[in-house]
Amino acid sequence: MGAAYGQADRGISPERVRVWRSTRRCPGGSRCGYPQRVRRALITGITGQDGQYLAEFLHAKNYEVFGLIKGQNNPRIDLITAELPFVELVSADLQDLSSLVAALEQVQPDEVYNLGAISFVALSFKQAELTANVTGLGVLRLLEAIRMVGGSSGNPIRFYQASSSEMFGKVRETPQTEQTPFYPRSPYGCAKVFGHDITVNYRDSYDLFACSGILFNHESPRRGIEFVTRKVTNAVARIKLGLQETLVLGDLEPRRDWGFAGDYVHAMWLMLQQDKPADYVVATGQTHSVRDFVDAAFRHAGLDDWERFVTQDPRFFRPAEVDLLVGDASKAHTELGWKPQVDFESLVSMMVDHDLRIEAKKAGIEVP
Ligand code: GDP
Repeated sequence: MGAAYGQADRGISPERVRVWRSTRRCPGGSRCGYPQRVRRALITGITGQDGQYLAEFLHAKNYEVFGLIKGQNNPRIDLITAELPFVELVSADLQDLSSLVAALEQVQPDEVYNLGAISFVALSFKQAELTANVTGLGVLRLLEAIRMVGGSSGNPIRFYQASSSEMFGKVRETPQTEQTPFYPRSPYGCAKVFGHDITVNYRDSYDLFACSGILFNHESPRRGIEFVTRKVTNAVARIKLGLQETLVLGDLEPRRDWGFAGDYVHAMWLMLQQDKPADYVVATGQTHSVRDFVDAAFRHAGLDDWERFVTQDPRFFRPAEVDLLVGDASKAHTELGWKPQVDFESLVSMMVDHDLRIEAKKAGIEVP
């Protein structure tokens, strides 16, 4: 393990270790020797799909999990409290450095996962400045807060930045690797490039254990309904149940490398367990068009003639499109030992089945 990036075992000063440990409980009580302790993770974006999967994953690994939450009356607090009762919520905002410093002081995390962002590409065209502020500058503020709270040498806080395949945009090569130059096609993509670059810069400049995961699209039943996969699976379920007649989409030709979010959070954690910080592409290596996804989802529900139900509307086309994404995750395979477990067809089936269940329940009907 590299001496520059540690706690007791990672080369940090004894004073710092004492402060860090003084607030910790040991899960094994008196059976635990002094060096053993509960690790703490702080997650921004706890209310999102990835935040929820990551929280569950870390909880299963006996971490104390803290989630940053913005605002007093955030309507998603109830969801997190119900679904992830083990998560301790901490109030802070990626747009407010002092709130981030206070949150880090309070939690004293071993690991910080920055999953918080304005993450919907289409919205980023309409709220470009907000996107730049939260998705881009938010990373800088969090890194600054880590530097201020964790100290300037032997900083014990390990940092994960959620970078995105949207940074590749108008792709310069296929498949995309960690070396592929960026050409973002949306304010979201541009903000993510800044977040990625500033993470690398802080790692180089201040010796932080800062990693960036370049995650390709990853979906699940927890995906927001605004994203095309969930929009499709939800509509398929409702059409199958007779609750909806049509599905209105934009461009059906863009291709994405779609994986399962539950698999991808595992890669995030693995990055922070390595000896040295680095950047990794996380992807399945398979690409499918929106059309393929629609076809697979309708077929899974037993509706083979999907063209009957789908129309297109310019409202859902974007000012600039990302036509093709497919990642080469060889580095993650080799160095992290990470491989995706859920393939495209299983992902589609999982999402359609889930939406059939919840839509049927809401409507009070039996799943056919
Ligand atoms: P993105 O890759 O992060 O932009 O994820 P999305 O799920 O939002 O979009 C994936 C692709 O689906 C993009 O190329 C969109 O242009 C395309 N698409 C086509 N119709 C729709 C739609 O109705 N909603 C969304 N969100 N995307 C659509």
